Amino acid sequence: MPKKWFVVAAAFAMVSGTGAREGHTGESQLKHDAGETRDVQAAAVERFLKGYDIAGTGLQPSYPKDYVCPPLTSLYASWIDVDGTRRKERHSGVDGGRLGDPVLAPAPGKVRRVWIADWSEGREGAVLLLHTREHLNLTNSPKFYYSEFDHLKYSDVSNLKEGQRIERGERIGQVFRPGGNGIYLPEVHFEVYEVDDDKALAWSVNARGTQFFKIQNLD
Ligand SMILES: [Zn+2]
Repeated sequence: MPKKWFVVAAAFAMVSGTGAREGHTGESQLKHDAGETRDVQAAAVERFLKGYDIAGTGLQPSYPKDYVCPPLTSLYASWIDVDGTRRKERHSGVDGGRLGDPVLAPAPGKVRRVWIADWSEGREGAVLLLHTREHLNLTNSPKFYYSEFDHLKYSDVSNLKEGQRIERGERIGQVFRPGGNGIYLPEVHFEVYEVDDDKALAWSVNARGTQFFKIQNLD
């Protein structure tokens, strides 16, 4: 029986960088963050809602031969959501998979963070992996890549430990639903960042009391 291989390195949709991950599914919560002026907030909210800093990459997903891969249901920079509805902002990653499909690491690396997230659909599990350029056999490239997986079930991923080594193809979770909520179609959201400084990763808490990250100086 052919192996399933949903997430592969070739499907990496390089993120040109919003600098923040919050609000990818629609509602930006930046306006709720303390310490920002009203003007800065308004500009940031508009940028995220309009997707001004997201552009298509032209990359097309491809999969290894002999692997059965569920379809991608919403592409990077797309305005169309998995259920066919129009998004409030351009999509900052790719969505795909069917309920229960294994989600596999796209490259070797280590677990950077596992956390309970809430992007406005409800509480769910999220995983951030860190890959060095050496992991990816790259030389002339940024030093690090993050791959992020959302809409997982937290209890499926809570066994992953920060700093834990991950091999390419290792199972890190399974496809679930945004917020674990049955009104949403199953999907995993997969997003990639390229960064030069791992210390630029900064965490904040949104209005729903869950963490989200920003990559400082990414623009
Ligand atoms: Zn998505």
